[in-house]
Amino acid sequence: MKNNTLPHKVNITIIRADHMGMCFGVRDAIALAKRVVKQKPLTVLGELVHNTSVLTDLKQRGVHFEDNPHEVDTKTVMITAHGASERTRKKVHGATLQLEDATCPLVHFAHNKVRQLVCAGYHPVIIGRHGHVEVRGLTEDLEEYDVILSVEDIDRLAFHCRLGIIAQTTQPINRVLELVEYLKQKFQHSEVKFVDTVCRPTKQRQEAAEELALNADVVLVIGGQNSNNTGELASTCRQFCRRVHHVQGPGDVKTDWIKDGDIVGITAGTSTPDELINSVESKVRSFCH
Ligand code: SF4
Repeated sequence: MKNNTLPHKVNITIIRADHMGMCFGVRDAIALAKRVVKQKPLTVLGELVHNTSVLTDLKQRGVHFEDNPHEVDTKTVMITAHGASERTRKKVHGATLQLEDATCPLVHFAHNKVRQLVCAGYHPVIIGRHGHVEVRGLTEDLEEYDVILSVEDIDRLAFHCRLGIIAQTTQPINRVLELVEYLKQKFQHSEVKFVDTVCRPTKQRQEAAEELALNADVVLVIGGQNSNNTGELASTCRQFCRRVHHVQGPGDVKTDWIKDGDIVGITAGTSTPDELINSVESKVRSFCH
């Protein structure tokens, strides 16, 4: 095991991104789960947040987690901030369960937009990660659709007269706009309509991460390994800074990442709680004079 004690302490400056950490959608979902479980047994469908410490805390409060509505042991289930399809909601009602809905309003917005595009005769194309819970929720009710995340995916698309594009709420807007541009070039004989469904907290965190990485020697991105938006923040930072580390908590921070005189930048994904950010910062501070 690696020794995490520095041979000598260092002088560093720590800067935080202007926007980072938990978004209102995730905060509200966690607050709802805590409120409901105080009154009655509760099962959350899927992962409420992609963060182990938050999930552990909720489990200790008595919240159950289950992927399949038919396997639920409690009378009340909760849909997470990521949202769910009508098909999943019907399964919940079919199993005669009471529903608590923590779907983020900005995910609802994306659901409404994709519905409107389909009603208007557009073939729906979702820019997002295949299999991600939000993308599953957006697509499960659709008869036909495509999910894309690269130009190679676009090259494989079949021709449609009308293409209606939306994005998973946590995709970096720059990537989304590049892919929409490529789609327009590739399908010049199609009508391509893009509705921007990337959420504002994601845009703010992405912009702030870019600014942070430009001004830091080393960047720590805090969040769960399976958190899509944390991963996206880390890749954005890597475009502007060579020393970027994705950490899940203070235990992951290594002394040899930090050198004397460094400006250390800190940012965090939308499911990372404030306490975790503070504990990572404290760990870094413990390396200082
Ligand atoms: S990341 Fe955006 S869409 Fe998702 S819960 Fe947070 S605010 Fe809502």
